[in-house]
Amino acid sequence: MSGRTDHTLVTLIPGDGIGPECVDAARRIVEATGAPIDWEEAEAGAEVFKKGLPSGVPPETMDSITRTRVALKGPLETPVGFGEKSANVTLRKLFETYANVRPVRELPGVTTTYSGRGIDLVMVRENVEDLYAGIEHMQTPGVAQCLKLISVKGSEKIARFAFEFARSEYRSSVACATKANIMKFTEGTLKRVFERVAPDYPELGSWHVIVDNCAHQLVKKPEQYDVIVTTNMNGDILSDLSSALVGGLGFAPSANIGNEIAIFEAVHGSAPKYAGKDVINPTAVILSAVMMLRYLEMFEEAEAIEHAVLVTLESGVLTGDVVGYDRGTPTTTYRDTIIGNLGKRTENWIVRDHRPLQLPVLDAAPDYVRPASRAVVGLDVFVESPLSAAELGASLMELTSDTRLSLKMISSRGTKVFPPTGAITDTLDHWRCRFIIKENPGDLPDEDVHQLLARISRRHMWMHTEKLQEFEGELGFTRDQGEN
Ligand code: NAP
Repeated sequence: MSGRTDHTLVTLIPGDGIGPECVDAARRIVEATGAPIDWEEAEAGAEVFKKGLPSGVPPETMDSITRTRVALKGPLETPVGFGEKSANVTLRKLFETYANVRPVRELPGVTTTYSGRGIDLVMVRENVEDLYAGIEHMQTPGVAQCLKLISVKGSEKIARFAFEFARSEYRSSVACATKANIMKFTEGTLKRVFERVAPDYPELGSWHVIVDNCAHQLVKKPEQYDVIVTTNMNGDILSDLSSALVGGLGFAPSANIGNEIAIFEAVHGSAPKYAGKDVINPTAVILSAVMMLRYLEMFEEAEAIEHAVLVTLESGVLTGDVVGYDRGTPTTTYRDTIIGNLGKRTENWIVRDHRPLQLPVLDAAPDYVRPASRAVVGLDVFVESPLSAAELGASLMELTSDTRLSLKMISSRGTKVFPPTGAITDTLDHWRCRFIIKENPGDLPDEDVHQLLARISRRHMWMHTEKLQEFEGELGFTRDQGEN
């Protein structure tokens, strides 16, 4: 259709489970439009894990994406619980595709409880930080920790991306969904940065919504949202919820976009129980390919596929996830029907206007935030001990009495338990012991830290420490429940 002779090379990853069926459908439909694309097939996921590669992504696949800069992929299976990392997360992170874009729009022909309400929103999910940094430790044999890392720079990138994305699609507002009321530093960072950059986009409405209320509002009145920007895990959950409003995961496409590379994939996973049965709905991967074509500025081909999919749905050709697996159209027939409908148009769909997306370019300096002043005021030491809080507190005070730091309190999972508060708190063998500098806070030379740890080690086992800092006079750490 484009009449171009120069072809774009795209890395094609069939993936696991239902992936190869979905990707095959998308590939054939794209090819049927005559889009000037050549594919380079690459491997990732289950087979790669089985060969003993813990990342699930072989170097050849990395090389291919580095060269082509664009990939269309099927879902990749992630071993649950132990061992290997998610190959999906690996790909997103190694290529710094920091923005995960998940459109959710009512599809004519797919009847749901929400049909007729005009749902047309886009979830913009931060894609490389947060709990999905995947930094986890067993701190004691019975207590696990996952670090939730959220940076000012990462937040500014995703907040600006969301506003720029809204501009590129002529949308009217961006809502920011966080749990800043509880996690004031991590989730609060996205909220603060979002509110700081919003005035740079004066034509767009903006507001903050607490994420649990956002979930509630999405079910109650989803049409109020246009673009929603949120942190990684919130976005993962909210986007699955939102996809159910317009027909389910079978219809939910996504793009992982970075300043260099973009990876397009369905929101859904490998749904292994349906693999190879010719029953699943390939629309999510097909619509991901449509997003890819627009990214590659192949607008005519993208529009042709979008219309052909909708004409197919409106004609009642529907897969088992919509009408029941005993009555559903086989995946291959559905695919061929879409190919046969290329060139037809539906009256019930307006293709959105697009203008080029301006990706935010931020200062590359690693120390993105430079405070005018900073001071160390204490040290948190995490200790494993089977003692009671009172016994541990007495022991630590005795051990550290002649050091530069004094024990302020001990907490169990964020609740102060020593000195006692009168609260009833279940405790474990995992304690956070907060020491504060007795005089002249400002710096805590390593010798003072070593001395304190050496004293503690005489009787107890510590597994983690954290300096307590102030930046420009503001506390850089939270107080515990019950701490004053
Ligand atoms: P899932 O594969 O998305 O499947 C969950 C359910 O969603 C399915 O059982 C099915 O619902 C429905 N579904 C998903 N895709 C469908 C499609 N194309 N057509 C029709 N129905 C579809 O989620 P999961 O079972 O939690 O995860 C399976 C594996 O995929 C895991 O290893 C997970 O780590 C991985 N995963 C990969 C990605 C990715 O590659 N980006 C994303 C998510 C999960 P019913 O059972 O109701 O029919």
